[in-house]
Amino acid sequence: MEREVLEVDVLVVGAGPAGLACAIDLARRAKAREQQLSILVLDKAEEIGKHQLSGAVMDPHGILELFPQARAQGFPIQAEVGDDALYWLTEKSQRKLSGLLLPPPFKNHGNWIVSAAEVVQWLAARAEEAGVEVYAGFAAAGMIYDESGAVTGVRTVDQGRDKNGAEKPNFQPGMEIRARLTVLAEGTRGSLTKQLIAKKKLQEGRNPQIWGVGVKEIWELPGAGITGTVWHTGGWPLGKSEYGGGWIYGLPERRVSIGFVVGMDHGNPAFDYHASMQEWKTHPFLANLLRGGKLLRYGAKTVPEGGLHSMPRLWGDGFLIVGDAAGFMNAARLKGLHLALKSGMLAAEAAAGALTGEGCSTEGLARYEALFEASWAHDELWKVRNFRQGFQKGFLTGSFFAGLGVMTGGRLPGGRKPMESDHHRYAKDGGENARAKPRVDNELVFDKLTSVYHSGTVHEEDQPCHLVVLEPDICTSRCTREYGNPCQHFCPAAVYEWEDGKGLTINASNCVHCKTCDIADPYQIINWEVPEGGGPAYSGL
Ligand code: SF4
Repeated sequence: MEREVLEVDVLVVGAGPAGLACAIDLARRAKAREQQLSILVLDKAEEIGKHQLSGAVMDPHGILELFPQARAQGFPIQAEVGDDALYWLTEKSQRKLSGLLLPPPFKNHGNWIVSAAEVVQWLAARAEEAGVEVYAGFAAAGMIYDESGAVTGVRTVDQGRDKNGAEKPNFQPGMEIRARLTVLAEGTRGSLTKQLIAKKKLQEGRNPQIWGVGVKEIWELPGAGITGTVWHTGGWPLGKSEYGGGWIYGLPERRVSIGFVVGMDHGNPAFDYHASMQEWKTHPFLANLLRGGKLLRYGAKTVPEGGLHSMPRLWGDGFLIVGDAAGFMNAARLKGLHLALKSGMLAAEAAAGALTGEGCSTEGLARYEALFEASWAHDELWKVRNFRQGFQKGFLTGSFFAGLGVMTGGRLPGGRKPMESDHHRYAKDGGENARAKPRVDNELVFDKLTSVYHSGTVHEEDQPCHLVVLEPDICTSRCTREYGNPCQHFCPAAVYEWEDGKGLTINASNCVHCKTCDIADPYQIINWEVPEGGGPAYSGL
């Protein structure tokens, strides 16, 4: 097929914090050297920021390194953290830990409450001012390699195919974008990054990556606002083998960002992330805050939790990987935005050297790793490199080793503690461990379709399904018997419906692009591929 070809020096796939930081830093470095460098950033969202979702309490360290005058330049801060606490929930009560009793990872004074969507809109404007081209609505569907196996760019998704793959009258083939350097900044479980990690064996000799699923809502409170408050919760409704907890962040105008994140290594094939979040809201602590208020927005996202030992090799012939796609996330602190920004800056520094010096080969780009190892981002992740592993042995063991790690600055437990992949941990119980789901009351508890409505998600219906089940026979021949078809439970957007006798229905147009299915499927036979366009329309999230 004839494809339009566009050639640039540097292509960044994904206009998130990491990709935009990389583009901005690289453009500045080129300008300082009076070097002509074409830098293009692509994003699959139809408007920049619409696919960005995060808590988000931001450690300002990263943004202040990139923009020391960020505040004066109008960086969008929803609120400065004024009050922080951890609440331990039992079914009907809670115990507050604050002040000296608050574990260090939950201390948030000095941090900023932000909307990830607003942050990247602001960064995209700064990137354009620096001479970077930022294209929204261009989803990268495949990598391009040369005959030696080096990455030479990407192919964007074809537009105008019908659901059977046939060309419609408005068909337009995707473009080939060729670049001297491709920076993968796709975010969590990037679809191209996944292919590249497998093809180049970038995970070899490291722990597998593991993820959590975060389900988030924005509410307007019925009573007074709690602007600047950062509360986290642990305990109920999670059990002893489940790792996770909730957050409540006070925004201006009587709004709150609330969310619940659960590690995907719990082993229960019937676990439902959306239902857990809904149940959490029925706790008196949450219910008293929210009842009578109004649900404004909804979203869901996976979060890489494995830490330093789960990061793949970050560079190779023609490519670098940054941000969530590479696992730059501190699960102990529940923070990744500052690390994503720093990873982008480090990649820019390595790229600037490679583009003017030894070229974008493996050798030329290996400096990225050295720069990372010498950075504060590495110091931070090194101290918590074994934080998450212990929780695979249960909450008490995990808490003990996590506490030991925090107290000793990561010296204990030392070495590299192993980790199991999320999908390897399912019990073969035919899905019998399903918890009763909370009753939908449309006041505090909503069903998945109502939630999806509040995410603003839209997809063209007549297009190829972007959720590709590679071996559909396994769904009926093995999955029902062994695991009870977990996809009907884990998807937080009611995309997968299972009916005995009828089988699997995939409502792809509901998909909020969280990537849970691509990670959580026990047989690893679901491939999340980029759709033609659409997806969630996050704003203020
Ligand atoms: Fe998330 Fe997959 Fe469901 Fe889409 S189909 S919302 S990526 S779990």
